[in-house]
Amino acid sequence: MSTGPRIILYILRRDVRLSDNPAFHCAAQHLKRSKNKRSSPSGDGRNRDDSLTSEHGGAPFTHLLPVYVFPANQIESSGFLASPTDRSPYPEARSQVAKLWRTGPHRAKFIGEGVWNLKQRLEGLQCGSGLEMRVGSIADVAREFLEFYAETGCKGGGQPQISGIWLTDDDGTEEKDDERILKNLAAKHDVAFKVWEDEKFYIDDRDLPYESISDLPNVYTTYRKPLEPLRDRPRNTLPTPTQLPPLPPDIPPQRAPFKIPTSEEGLLKALLAPLQKDPTYCLKTPPSWPKDVQSAHPFKGGETNGQDRIKHLVSTGAMSTYKATRNGMLGLDFSTKLSAFLAQGHITARQVHWAMVDFEDGIGAGEGAEGYGKGENEGTAAVRFELLWRDYMRLCMRKFGHKMFALYGIQPHAKGRGDQQPKPKKRWRTLNKSGGAGDDPKMTLETFTRFRSGRTGVGLIDASNREIFLTGYTSNRARQNVASFLTSHLDIDWRIGAEWYEFLLTDYDVASNWGNWQYVAGVGNDPRQGRVFNPVKQALDYDAKGEYIKAWVPELRDVKLTRNIGPGREEIDQQRLMALYQAWKLSDWEKSSLGLKGVEWVEQPLTRIQFSVGRKGPPDGRSKRGGGGGGHWRGIDGEADAAWVGDGARATFQSSWGGGGEGEESGQESRGNGEGVHLEDMELV
Ligand SMILES: Cc1cc2nc3c(=O)[nH]c(=O)nc-3n(C[C@H](O)[C@H](O)[C@H](O)COP(=O)(O)OP(=O)(O)OC[C@H]3O[C@@H](n4cnc5c(N)ncnc54)[C@H](O)[C@@H]3O)c2cc1C
Repeated sequence: MSTGPRIILYILRRDVRLSDNPAFHCAAQHLKRSKNKRSSPSGDGRNRDDSLTSEHGGAPFTHLLPVYVFPANQIESSGFLASPTDRSPYPEARSQVAKLWRTGPHRAKFIGEGVWNLKQRLEGLQCGSGLEMRVGSIADVAREFLEFYAETGCKGGGQPQISGIWLTDDDGTEEKDDERILKNLAAKHDVAFKVWEDEKFYIDDRDLPYESISDLPNVYTTYRKPLEPLRDRPRNTLPTPTQLPPLPPDIPPQRAPFKIPTSEEGLLKALLAPLQKDPTYCLKTPPSWPKDVQSAHPFKGGETNGQDRIKHLVSTGAMSTYKATRNGMLGLDFSTKLSAFLAQGHITARQVHWAMVDFEDGIGAGEGAEGYGKGENEGTAAVRFELLWRDYMRLCMRKFGHKMFALYGIQPHAKGRGDQQPKPKKRWRTLNKSGGAGDDPKMTLETFTRFRSGRTGVGLIDASNREIFLTGYTSNRARQNVASFLTSHLDIDWRIGAEWYEFLLTDYDVASNWGNWQYVAGVGNDPRQGRVFNPVKQALDYDAKGEYIKAWVPELRDVKLTRNIGPGREEIDQQRLMALYQAWKLSDWEKSSLGLKGVEWVEQPLTRIQFSVGRKGPPDGRSKRGGGGGGHWRGIDGEADAAWVGDGARATFQSSWGGGGEGEESGQESRGNGEGVHLEDMELV
């Protein structure tokens, strides 16, 4: 048997953290044992020691080689080329349907920051540990390491060998393919192979009540109910290693033609350079930063920043107010903004849970903040509820695999009930006529381009699309509206929208993104199919003072929204809001004075949504006019979320996309392909 270094090659994917990481925890435990020290139980009963060392794949090891691979099929690799004359052996990292970049600048940067942070954290342990970075496919990288150590002697003497390959589980279909290839490669080289369960989710897979993933309910509520109370569900976190086995003495360099930068700045440059060649991303009029607007997501990636964010949310009491603020759209703390950290595995959901438990039990930070020491409250319970949605989407990805990316989604073609005819499949407008809508792909592309540029003419949609383009973030409320607009008002293939989000979102997560798009598009696991958001009613409910639209669509900032109601007193005038929500409603005089006359998205919006507001005081007669958000207006037939009902308000729409038809629509609820549309404010997650 070789007396040289025995190496575990640990390939990281979306588990880029030191804390609460089963693989690092196991390596640390192994080191302790091999030093013949009794492993001291952690003082904190919450930190688990599962004696994971027995599970590490059976291979004894002396060195741990953590490697993060920037996967060339997802993150464009050409920025890592050593010389400008070199060519990448990998195709461009473009999406399947719309051929967009798969990873845009916001996430590329966030990922780079996260990887660099982990490298620093590992080096900071001062035990010889560290993190290697590579570019390529995971299989190519693993093969290169295996071959290098099979062929080379080692500085320290003796023949080094890889005794095991570790990988953390990931339910994405591409990630599953990588796992299979790696498993075969390990078998070929007679090397142990271990897939660690990904423990960054709220409820541990081992605690789920399913024999098989096919038992997972297709409806979230059915999944959630048996798991309640959610507060009792998460396992304890794992202790953060303070020592790890060192890196091996010899490490092969990155294979040509790529070169790995030696500074964080260099790394970010390599990641961003290919994207910056065309910062307009083929848009003639890309959104530009409006004056005096702050990003709602200015956070840098990495475990350290993720932990700081959790601390901030807990200690300021923002978790307690979450339920009341989560439908906000402007500002830093209306929602947690933890999604990107969670998606990359910079933090785990159970770390969020236990930080909230400390707050609820009054033993952690946040003394004096609302809810401190008073047990679970509405806000903290709602955060848990949302974290479980994330678990659920991931499990759906496991259950449905490739169907998560299929045009008709996870829904079996619906059978008619009794003697009813089955509902015809929706025909989608696509970029290549394959959706069966008899459409012109050129026109679809033109429409999609206006959508991406934030120039549809529907204020809420345009504000959100400009925001996401510029910052990589937009709120859950805005995402729901945008997805509904693309899929139901414009009838465009929902996968194109999902790819656009995949490109732009900092927090992109394969399951959460594709699952949510399917859900909104009506081909996912929404039990109440066929519902559509009305973006005017939604704006009235969630942007009642027009602040969000004015922030991101600066051309509309000077639209006057108030009217005089007495000496020195003004109030928001709902009729004026309507012209902010859809600028085609501005009078000719206003269009001229705002410089909007003849502007395409103002004069020829992609769709005109008829919506009028009726006004009536609340039952007790108090006026709540002028700002109050949802509940006081009834905009849509059959809607139930109004506390009381205003008079005569109706909403209808008809797509006039591409053409910008004149005048308000007939009052019929219809869409281009002839299917009836019930405009409903769909209450999602
Ligand atoms: C069309 C569409 C696409 C989306 N794409 C993504 C995506 O790629 N990645 C992503 O993480 N979320 C996605 N979401 C879900 C949700 O919009 C974001 O998780 C949320 O807006 C992120 O902001 P936050 O961290 O402040 O969320 P919070 O409101 O603070 O929620 C707390 C956490 O719960 C989870 N969560 C909340 N809502 C959902 C949900 N509907 N589905 C799954 N998890 C949820 C997230 O991890 C989030 O960080 C998408 C939603 C829609 C409608």
